[in-house]
Amino acid sequence: MNTKRIAILYTGGTIGMQPSDNGLIPAAGYLTSRLQQEPRLQSGQVPAYDLVEYEPLLDSSDMEPHHWQQIAEDIAQRYSDYDGFLVLHGTDTLAYTASALSFLLPGIDKPVIVTGSQLPLAEPHSDGHDHIVEGLMLAAKPACAGVNVLFHHKLLPGNRVTKSSSVALGAFTAPNAAPVWVMDASSGPSPLDVKTQPGLAPQVPPLKPCRIGVLTLTPGMPKAMLVHFFNQPLDAVILRSYGAGNAPQQADFMRLIEQACEQGTVVVNLSQCDHGGVAMGTYAGGSALARAGVISGGDMTLEACYSKLVVLLSHYDSVDIIRERMQLNLAGELTQRD
Ligand code: ASP
Repeated sequence: MNTKRIAILYTGGTIGMQPSDNGLIPAAGYLTSRLQQEPRLQSGQVPAYDLVEYEPLLDSSDMEPHHWQQIAEDIAQRYSDYDGFLVLHGTDTLAYTASALSFLLPGIDKPVIVTGSQLPLAEPHSDGHDHIVEGLMLAAKPACAGVNVLFHHKLLPGNRVTKSSSVALGAFTAPNAAPVWVMDASSGPSPLDVKTQPGLAPQVPPLKPCRIGVLTLTPGMPKAMLVHFFNQPLDAVILRSYGAGNAPQQADFMRLIEQACEQGTVVVNLSQCDHGGVAMGTYAGGSALARAGVISGGDMTLEACYSKLVVLLSHYDSVDIIRERMQLNLAGELTQRD
């Protein structure tokens, strides 16, 4: 008999959707009643749960940073009442939310498992059934403390994932990180149990509106478009560069970048390659960016880079501190408040 208790925060997504004339839409109450009929959840081997259904349920393409904050606050409020948390979320922006939660709940010592599904639970072969059962079991394991994404029998670090397929059941990958846990027939959902001392409920910092522009470089971009982009009032720019962090060395382009850095915009260099990351000293094109004041995003995903910027820009006024913290690795404690 499993004596743990998990809070399920159901925010929306395909997992609880139903067909409509316009395609799949979230259906209030459906997932909640569907889970009450799931025999595997009544077996006593899976932890008991309480389910909080968000109102309204959202397709995750409608999620914004204030929704990340709401989820983090809902976890913090219930922190001492539960052994772990299972966040059910649409897959489209799940990687942003999981990354954001890792930065909003740094050093959390209970599991926060974020999952969703590619097929609605209404389909008999939906991947959502396994994700909920495995998610509840993993959310009860102290060894799974922290924010992780569960998908297709793999637990991946929350701020290292990206949605890399719109159709595969293994929709998420962590291109630059190892899985936290992979299910196989021998192990079942039981990673090594380590006892941790539950700490204090996390304090969730408020998020403020911030202006982050994402610029994906393509060969021969019109100058007028670049000028227009950099003329916007931007707090930060994520420059999606080529390969190891390279960009064209044309004087006009470099001047726009230099001006943005001089004006206090945080410009982060992030590679368009999923795997490997930025090493700005490798080529002259990357070195020039570094000299202009661009900082390296290392091997972060776009989702982690974006959500980390939102959290840091909300919390710090000093561009220097934001630039310094952006370059530290992704461990939660590096965004701690001081
Ligand atoms: N559009 C859906 C969403 O992100 C896709 C999904 O859940 O798989 O909410």
